[in-house]
This record gives sequence, C-alpha cells and structure tokens, in this order.
Amino acid sequence: MDIEQFRKAGYQAIDRICDYYYSLEQKPVNSQVPPGYLRELIPPTAPEQGEDFQTIADDYQKLIVPGLTHWQHPNFYAYFPTACTFEGILGDLYATSATNPGFNWACSPACTELEAVVMDWSAKLFGLADHFLNSSEVGGGVMQTTASDSALVAIVAARSRYTSQHPEAKLEDLVIYTTTQTHSLGVKAALVLGLECRSLEVKPEDRFALRGETLRRALAEDAAKGKRPFVLVATVGTTSSGAVDRLGEIGEVLQDHSSIWIHVDAAWAGVTLACPEFRETAQLDHINRHADSFCTNFHKWGLVNFDASTLWVRNRKHLTDALDVTPEFLRTKQGDAGTVIDYRNWHLSLGRRFRSLKVWFVLRSYGAKGFRDYIRKSIDLNTHFAALVRAEPSFSLVTEPAFALTVFRLAPALPTGLPAAAQLAQLNALNRSYYAKLNARPDIYLTQTQLNGTFCIRFAIGAARTTRAHVDRAWAILQEEAAGVLAEWTA
Ligand code: PLP
Repeated sequence: MDIEQFRKAGYQAIDRICDYYYSLEQKPVNSQVPPGYLRELIPPTAPEQGEDFQTIADDYQKLIVPGLTHWQHPNFYAYFPTACTFEGILGDLYATSATNPGFNWACSPACTELEAVVMDWSAKLFGLADHFLNSSEVGGGVMQTTASDSALVAIVAARSRYTSQHPEAKLEDLVIYTTTQTHSLGVKAALVLGLECRSLEVKPEDRFALRGETLRRALAEDAAKGKRPFVLVATVGTTSSGAVDRLGEIGEVLQDHSSIWIHVDAAWAGVTLACPEFRETAQLDHINRHADSFCTNFHKWGLVNFDASTLWVRNRKHLTDALDVTPEFLRTKQGDAGTVIDYRNWHLSLGRRFRSLKVWFVLRSYGAKGFRDYIRKSIDLNTHFAALVRAEPSFSLVTEPAFALTVFRLAPALPTGLPAAAQLAQLNALNRSYYAKLNARPDIYLTQTQLNGTFCIRFAIGAARTTRAHVDRAWAILQEEAAGVLAEWTA
C-alpha cells in the first residue's frame, strides 16, 4: 500500500468506524458466534500472493465484527467497562503512525518527555502527593500495559529492595500478601516470580476490606514460621464488590515493618480520585502517606482506549535498581550522564508503545472538569440503579454499592426454619439460573461473582454511552427475567 492508497483506505476506515458507532446500539452486546467460528471462514495459511486491501477491509466487516463483543455498547455492564473515546483512538493512530519503541530518551525524546509530563498531570488530577511526581526527580510515574504488569513491576522492585536490605533472606521464605478479594494479579505475580502468595481473610461485616488486625496476626504467624512477607498488594475498589482496604490501619501496622512495600492496586476505582468528594472513600490521604506504589488504569473507567495503565512509585531508584540492565548497545550519552529518564528501566520489556499521546489528547479535550463530570455521571447512574434494586422486595444488595458498581441477587422470602446452609444453596441455585437467563440475552451483558459463598451478579457502569434511559431499560430487563425465574421457582 502506498501513501495515496493509505489515504483512501484510511478515509474509508474512519467512515466505517463512525458507522460502527452509529449502529452500535442496534447490535447485540455479546457476540453470538459459536466457538471456532473463524477457523471455518479463514484459510489455514497466509496467502502466497498479496491481496487487494479492499477485500481485506471488507472481510474485517464480514468476518471479524460479528465475533466482537461490543465493550463500547451502552448496555455493557460486565467486568469493568472500558470507556473508549475518539480522542484516544486518534492518539493511538498517530502513535502507531510514528511506531517508535521509545525505550530510551534518545529513541525519541518526545515519547519519554510527554509521558513524564502526562504522568505528572495525571498525578495532580488524582491529588497524588508531590513525591510521586516525575518533577520531584525522586519518585515518578510510568505507563504500563496493564494493572497486572504494574503490580508485577512493583513486586519485582519490592523484592529487590527487600533482598538488598536483608541479604540473608532466602527466596523460598519470601511471601507476597494479598487478600481473598485481590484481583488474580497477585497470584499471577507469585506464579511468575516463583514466590509464595498468602491471601489474607477479609470479612463481610468489614465490607470485604482488609483490616489492620488481620494483617498484624498474619505477620506474627509468618514471623514464627520464619517467613518473610515483603510486599502487600492492597486494593482500592476490588473487582467483586468495590471494597477498599483500610489503608490507614495497614499503614499503621506496617510502620514497624518498613521493608514491606505497600502497592495500591486501584486499577478501576483510582480514577475517582479526580473528584474531591470521592477522595476520602478512595483513601487518598492514606495512599499519599503509606503507598510505595500506586496504580490506576485509564483504560478502564478513564476514557482512554486500551491499554493505558499508570503506575507511580515513591522512589524511582527501587525500580531502576531492580530493572536496569544496560548492555553496550543500549547506552546513550544522555543515559550515561543521568540527565534523562530511560523508561526501559521502569518496566519489564524493552520496547514500549507511545501511550501517553492518547492520554494527553483525552485530558486536553475533556479537561479536568470534563473528566470529573464523566466519573460523577457514572456514579450518579449507579446510585439510581442501586435505589431501584433496594426498592424491589425480591432483590437484595449483597454489599453496599461502591463507586459505579452494584452487586445484587434475587432474594425472595424462603420457608421459615430452613437452615442457613440450605438457604444459601437454594438462593445460589436460583441466582445461577437467573444469571443464565440474563447471559443468554443479546441486549445486556453482566458478569457474576461469588462473595463469601454467595453467588451474585455485578452491575458495573462506566461505558461512555450509557445514559439513565439505558439503566432504566436494563432494570426492566432484570425485572422481566426475574419474574420468569421466580414464577418457575415457586411453581
Ligand atoms: N485490579 C482490579 C481491581 C481489577 O478489577 C482488574 C480488572 O478488572 C485488574 C486489576 C486487572 O487489570 P488489567 O487487565 O489492567 O491487568
């Protein structure tokens, strides 16, 4: 394809993307194709002779679009929605056009310098303390692919800091602390690093948040066994229920364990810190006081298309001590002089995408006010949805609504005298069949979870095009399916 052919194909692509967005609401949220559908439609080997691009572009529409689940659909309430914007898409387009792996400052100074500035803008938007700023030249921020990578990088830095402070420590004694509600990223990091992971218990009466006392007990038990916890992954906004670990209590307990690193995973809810009224709930003061590292994802609820995970550390030296490997071929004059950031030493891979461009586009186009308005809109919609659930006697909230997440289930009255375990089993079975009905519908998408043995359904708001009318329509669907399932159940 030459430049003029690209111009033509590019205009057509933008036209088709616009048509896709215009028609999004008419599409099923969930892809309706069976597993393996594509293998039957695509030849088993790449073509020997190049094909006409128009045929390829048409095949995208014909073969790929039907196999997409539409995360930008306004009726997408599953997982945590990923709010994508046109500004973000254009940022990625420009970044791809330059295709610059920006691992050293000298590879392309704009890539490193924009990232350093945009990470400071974002830190200030979220109210993070000055020690997290790149301009502090002590701490700083870096973009990673995902929150899982951010956690892995933080844990690698924590391990390196710990083993340099405790050279006698054996790797088999090191333990990563998470909770039973931590995202699977904690266990994944332990698998990758060949380390032990201990999931601390959290209680429903604490709304599934880690308490200082539980941590204190675990530390004493592990000390007695000769184990060495070296990092705690705390969460602001857990996946299953939006729980916020008690960072104040955690910080107090860990005051006497200064070599234990606190990583705060706020992959989803961290963006609420842009709004002053949510900072207390999201524990900004404690993040600033106690966290060694903090992560949130712009690519979930932060209006930037995937991927854009942001990680800040209190002291960048811990990252570079752990990750700086500089063979001769990677040395540069500026890197040797120590006058620039070489981001390759702040993450796992060498090459990196120019992700800050799309964040820059979005923050400038929305402004801080537009960003805050968007977060507030999602939370208002969730408050509205939770009120509908609360008012319906056959439904119940499993936990209090958190940020833009409501976790609920059907909970009709059961015969009196039924033992608690039998009640739980009956309601779980009822809710599983309810969820199966919802999941079979093409016009809404939700996901399930389990909290303390209770099967429940999550309703997560955050897709950029969801309005109050969509939420009301979703509630009508939930009621309609509930009526059918409850009628069968009582028959
Ligand atoms: N942390 C939390 C609390 C999450 O809810 C999720 C995903 O939903 C993640 C981490 C993982 O995010 P990523 O896909 O960026 O690794």
